[in-house]
This record gives sequence, structure tokens and C-alpha cells, in this order.
Amino acid sequence: EPPSLDRVGATPMMAQYIEIKAANPDCLLFYRMGDFFELFFEDAEIASRALGIVLTKRGKHGGNEIPMCGVPVERSDDYLSRLIALGHRVAVCQQVEDPAEAKKRGPKSVVRREVQRLVTPGTITEDRLLDPARANLLLAVGRRKISEQAQAYGLAAIDISTGRFSLSEVADGELAAAIARHEPREIVLSEAIHSDPALARLWRDTSAAVVPLAQAELEPASAERRIREQFGVATLDGFGAFSRAEIAAAGAALLYIERTQIGARVPLSAPTREASGATLSIDAATRANLELTRTLSGERKGSLLDTIDRTVSAGGARLLAEHLAGPLTDLEAIVQRQAAVAYLTEEAALRGALRDALAGAPDLARALSRTGLGRAGPRDLAALRDGLDAAARIAERLASLQGAPRALAAIGERLAGIDSGLVAELAAALADDLPLNRRDGGFVRAGYRADIDESRELGRDSRKVIAALQARYAEESGCRTLRIKHNNMLGFYIEVPQAVGEACLKGLMRDFVHRQTMIDAMRFTSVELGELESKISGASDRVLAMEGEVFEALAALVMAQATVIADVAEALAALDVAASHAELAVELDWTRPGLDAGVAFAIEGGRHPVVEAALRRSGEPFIANDCDLSGKESGRIRLVTGPNMGGKSTFLRQNALIVVLAQMGAFVPARSAHLGLVDRLFSRVGAADDLARGHSTFMVEMVETAAILNQATRRSLVVLDEIGRGTATFDGLSIAWACLEHLHETNGCRSLFATHFHELTALSQRLSRLDNATLRVTEHRGDVVFLHEVVPGVADKSYGLQVARLAGLPKGVVARAGAILKGLEASERDRPTRRKIDDLPLFASLADAPPSEPAQAVMVDDTVGALVDELDPDAMTPREALDALYRLKRER
Ligand code: ADP
Repeated sequence: EPPSLDRVGATPMMAQYIEIKAANPDCLLFYRMGDFFELFFEDAEIASRALGIVLTKRGKHGGNEIPMCGVPVERSDDYLSRLIALGHRVAVCQQVEDPAEAKKRGPKSVVRREVQRLVTPGTITEDRLLDPARANLLLAVGRRKISEQAQAYGLAAIDISTGRFSLSEVADGELAAAIARHEPREIVLSEAIHSDPALARLWRDTSAAVVPLAQAELEPASAERRIREQFGVATLDGFGAFSRAEIAAAGAALLYIERTQIGARVPLSAPTREASGATLSIDAATRANLELTRTLSGERKGSLLDTIDRTVSAGGARLLAEHLAGPLTDLEAIVQRQAAVAYLTEEAALRGALRDALAGAPDLARALSRTGLGRAGPRDLAALRDGLDAAARIAERLASLQGAPRALAAIGERLAGIDSGLVAELAAALADDLPLNRRDGGFVRAGYRADIDESRELGRDSRKVIAALQARYAEESGCRTLRIKHNNMLGFYIEVPQAVGEACLKGLMRDFVHRQTMIDAMRFTSVELGELESKISGASDRVLAMEGEVFEALAALVMAQATVIADVAEALAALDVAASHAELAVELDWTRPGLDAGVAFAIEGGRHPVVEAALRRSGEPFIANDCDLSGKESGRIRLVTGPNMGGKSTFLRQNALIVVLAQMGAFVPARSAHLGLVDRLFSRVGAADDLARGHSTFMVEMVETAAILNQATRRSLVVLDEIGRGTATFDGLSIAWACLEHLHETNGCRSLFATHFHELTALSQRLSRLDNATLRVTEHRGDVVFLHEVVPGVADKSYGLQVARLAGLPKGVVARAGAILKGLEASERDRPTRRKIDDLPLFASLADAPPSEPAQAVMVDDTVGALVDELDPDAMTPREALDALYRLKRER
């Protein structure tokens, strides 16, 4: 039971704490006390557990001891980042006056404190808290009603760390996929959207921190006002036509930023609007399954992104991740990206030079954003200097190219927008060695400002100046023992022996002012010495203040060109991404895929980039495989059977990955590829029972399969791996069967379907656009050898026991399983009539095909002899003959 936070009876400081905490109930409160941020009550318990720091006590409140823990201010960034990573939000409460001031008000007065910032996962800007290779997105969700049943969702995606701001609208069914694509760190939405039962699972399952805002704060009028104020415009018309849902989302995002940044104005680029359907739709399950940006275990290493990333700059790495998360559907845009990549694959020297220059360019976007927020340090200004300088050199290089494709030329033009004066000013102003914080001073280059040099000189040379004055006074007074000394009481003073002092008092040294008479000495000061003293003691303060002015002036110069700099940063990132694709294509011999608006899907010699990379490390070859699903109106379905470990999943996924790569504008791991653009990509793996996750994975699998069958269009690509595996054989078989028919008859999409239900291969007889394929296997001295080669036809054997032996199942168990299998097979053979697929009730009711076909298709009723009798070699094609041979072999 947490103690009630009642201010009655609290010490004045606790009363202040409780008031501030009450205003920030859903944040951990970092309460500044001297060199520490302290946390109290429940906050202290949460933080001490999360951070592994000691929980202590401080005084009592309401009769109970107050739990407390603290973190040193100096290392608070560390602790903050760990709390943020865990999804906490932190209110940073600073002392806003000198404790001495508070004392003056009375002995019991408390130092004034204010929350100056809320640190939340989606609103951080510090390099130390950010992953350089990832965008840090705050996503706001708004919605509007379209009809009684349907609504549309507006999404505002803002990366405060770079100022990027985009808006889009998606239909009901696309919301989950859109959120998955953005991978936001934090989601803000209205209470109504948050509590909508239809969306509960979405908010529960996301890894983002979810923050509901009160409806009253999200009125449409205030949303519009916020957008107008942010961009200083009188009307929103200039931004293009935003829907009400988008405006609601943008308003919520800006409200939340206002609230977390408290007073600091966040520089955001004008919102870009993304047309719906502009990106390849990939839902969360497909992303996870294809391991696009992270593996199933959640790591970047081993993901497609990790495997293809040859970028050399942080901005490039972020953009690559963004492109991978949202491949395009617009042919023209993709072809433009491809052209830049193609050019750079040809021009090796140019590519190398560009990549060197890019590698030396610091993270402009984030330095710019911190500058705009007033959180920059001298090194951020240096980053801007170096980044802009690199950009200018790259622009020159691009401008000199002959016959460069439009996309590259456009990048060059964007880079050329930099004002060289700004770079020169930064270069002139900033010293070589820079401190982290501006309050440390010393970052203005000597020679940049005379008054700073002078004050620094004074500080450095104070001893010399005093010594010179002492020598002069000694000479003028004729007293060789005259000294200029310093103590805390008098500051600098002149000391002479008693006798000389008397003479001085008589006006020998007219400008000396008597201060003290000691037993054998007298002390004086002078106007000159007083001036010198204040100069010296004020010098370091003044230097700091003047350096501060320089900093502000440079920051203002930078912000005056914020739009250009942001654009330059994006152009550099785009160049880095193109060069990365080119580097990869050359390194691994990838090809440029041909794309069009049809439903072709012809891949020759395709490879799985991640599996291939893993095999390469162990020196094994990857076997390339073709895949042709091209159709005229509708795509084809390839049904893949074959033993476990044969390479089915790898084959399925590589074809999906090739689509992702092709549509993000990259080259692809294949000898050749020709694709009709895909509008939606689906990939599912049938779940084996997963007790750890607690709920029925079969149910989840069916929900997801339903989504595919409901959403896949003629232009989609569907990849289904072992659907139906999670339930009893007949259920699973029936479901898989019905799904295949639906894909073939209704969706008409290009599909790859792996299954261990061999019965399904009979469907190739009924469904005209379905082919069987299998993974080739041979046996070597009783051991199975996987050739990983995809060939037409049906697996003749499942090799379960061989795989079990390979997996290290004890010899005795394998032998026993072999004996059991023999017995089962024998009893099956001895039955007068073997079960035929069409005897299964479900399939019998589907008997729309000519009755003779199915029997011929899969199994025979009789012995090998009867089968041979049926054969008419003269009437058979070579392919039929081969199939017959396989059948005979199976029946033997
Ligand atoms: P399945 O889905 O049939 O059980 P996988 O696709 O999981 O098989 O492949 C099993 C293993 O076989 C992979 O981890 C990989 O090492 C290897 N493999 C798969 N496909 C290939 C290939 N085309 N060339 C070489 N090795 C492959």
C-alpha cells in the first residue's frame, strides 16, 4: 500500500515534491537535490529495482518512512537511457534558483524547482540515449469515421531527433501493418482509440510505450491551431490536403511534444504526406517471419537489414532501415533508385570516393535537431561544419559527372544548396579540440574575436601583468621591497615596510589608497590595481559569457538554414543508401531486377542472402534456385513438399526477400529476376505448439491466415509455410487444402506453399495454376544427403528417420522407429484397398473434377504389377513416364 501523498504534515521540501509529482503522475520524478537526482516513494522502488541501485530511506511521511534512491547528476544520462529502454518516462525536475537565494527568503524556504523536461522513449534527442542506426519515432494515431462500420486512421510519425515529420492515412485493416512498419518507440492516441476493444490487442502487443491523452485536449480546432503555430502559418492549405484523421494525429503528436519538451521549440520539417498504398504493405507477422529488421529473437544481427547494410553513415543506416521497412509500389520511383545504384555499380572509383567522403561526414540531422532545441554542444556545431563541408565536396564531385542518372544528379543539386559562408564561419569560430559541454568553455578558436582573446590573455597572463605593475610601483616609490600580494579579505593589495608606508601616506604615491596598517608593514590598493583585479577575476566569467554569445550566434546562423541543412542530410543519406546497394551488388554479384506492372514472377538462380552469408562463413556453397510464378491474369501457386531440412523454408523466404529488395530499389541475389510489382506481401509459418506463449498459437495462426485470404489481391505475394501444422492431421490437412483452393480460385495471387501433407500434391490435377515442387535428396550409404535443389514433382519419401538420426536421436531409438515404421507400412500394404485421398469425406464432397483423375493422380489401389499393366508407354510424355517411375518406386 503506497503512502498517500498528502501534503498535510509534510516538510516544506516534501510538500514541494508531492506537488510536482502530482502534476506528473505517470512519470518517474527525477528530483534535483545538489549533485543528485533523488527519487522518492514508489518511484524510488521502481527505479532501484530497474537500475539495481540501493534503496534507502529519508525521513518520514504520514508516519511511514520514505523510500528513496538517487543517481548522481553527472551520470544521470546512463540511468535515464536504461529507464527509457524499459519503457519508463521520466520527469526531470531541476533547481531553478541558487540555494543562497532561497535561504534569503527564510530558514524554512525551499529552493524553487521546476520540471524542465519529460524524457520519454519517443522524444529523446541525446546521442547517448539514441541508437545512431535507427530512427526514433513518436507515432500519433487519430481517426475519422467513413461510414457506420468503417473508419480511417491518421498516422503522424515524428522523429524529434532528426525533425522528420510524415503523415499518412490508412484503412481499418491496414493500421496494424502501418504501425509495424514504423516501429515506433512511443505511441500517443486518444483515450477513445486506446480503449477501443477492437484495437486492444494492438496496443497490448506493441513494444512501444503507449500513452493515451484525454479526449478534451484533442479537439479538432486545437489540433489545427497547434499545427499552424508549429509552422508559423495562417492556414494549413499550403501543406496539401490533410484528412481529419491526419490532422487529429498531427495535433496529438504536437501536443505531446509540447508537453514533454516544456518550452523548447522543436524544429520539425514541414509534414510530408504519404499517399495510401505508396508502400508495399507488410504486416507485423510477415515482418517478423521474414526477419527484415530484426531476427525472431529480436536482434538486428542476422536480420536482412544487418546482412545488406553497407552504409557508412548513421543517416544512411537509418534511411536504409526506413526503405527496408517500407519498400515502394511506384514503378517510376523504384526505377529511379535502381538507376542510381546501377550507375554506382559501374563506377567503382567514384563509389569508393563517395563512400570515403560519406564515412567522414558526421550525423547532420541529429546535430541540427539538438541545435534547434538548445541542447547542442560545441561538438554538434563541429559536426555541422564537417558534415556540410563533406556535402559540399560530394556535390562538386557529383556535378562533374557525365551521364549520371537523374536520381544522382538530383542528390547533387540538393547538396549544392549549402551556403559556403556558414561552413567558413563555423570553421573560423570553432577550436580544434572541443569540450562536450558549452559551459566548459574553450571552444572558440583563438583569433576569432579580439575581446575573447584579450580576456583569455588577461587570465593567462595575470601574474605577468601584476609583476610588471609591482616593478613599476617599486621603481616609482623607490622601495625595492614593495610587493603586490593577494588574500581573500583584501583581494590584491600593495605591501610596503612601515617607514615607506608613512611616506606613501604623505602623498609620495598619490594614487595609493590606505587599507591596513600591520606591525611592520602597511597595505594599500590603487585604482589601477583595483581595475586590474576586477579584470582578472572577471576574465574567466567574461570569456565564458562571450563564448556563449558566439555559440548562440553560430546556432542562429545554423538555424537560419535549417531547412537546407535537413535536406542536405537527407540527400547524403540517400546517396549512402544507393552506394551501399551498389557495393553489396558488386561484392555478392547481385543483379538489377526487371520490374513492371504485370503479375510476372520469374527468378533464375535466386539465393537467400542471410542463409547464404551464414553458409559462406562456414565455407559451404549455397545452391541457387529458380522460381517462376508468372501468370497472365493471375499468378501461379507452387506447392513445395520435401523432407525437413531440405530447404523449403529457405526457398520460400528467399523469394519474398527478393521482392522486398527489388521494391526498395536494391539489386537482388539472383542470376536474373523479372517481377510484376507486388502490392502486399504475406508470409506465415504454421505454428508448432508454443506453450511458452500461453495462448493457442493455432488460433493465432488461423486468425492470421484468415487475414491473408481476406486481403491478398491478384498483385500480392503469399508465402505459407506449413499452415495447418498446429492441429490434428485431418483438421490441418483440410484447412491447408481449403486455403490452397481459396488462393487459387479467389485471390489469384502468386503463392508459395510448403507443406508436409503429401496428399495436397494431388491438387495439381485440379488446379490449373498449381505446380508441385520438391527439394532433391539422395541417399549415401543409408544416410540422407540434402541437395537443396528445387525440382518439379513430389517428394518420394519423407526421410524422417534419417533426419532423426542426423539430429542425434539415440541409435536404439532410431532402430526401433525403423522397425515400427516397417510394421506400419506392411499393415498398410496388406489392406485390400489403400485409402485414397478422395475417400476422405471432405474431399469427396469437393468432387468437382472428373472422377477418374484423382485416382490416377496420387495413389494406386493395387500392387506394382497392376500399375505396370495400366501403363501405355506409347501414349506417355517423358514427364508422365518419369512420374510413373517414381510411383512404381514408391509402391515397391
Ligand atoms: P526445411 O524448411 O525444408 O526444413 P530449411 O529451409 O530450414 O529446411 O533449411 C535447412 C537448412 O538447410 C538451412 O539452415 C541451410 O543451412 C540449408 N539450406 C537450405 N537451403 C539451402 C540452399 N539452397 N543451399 C544450401 N543450403 C541450404
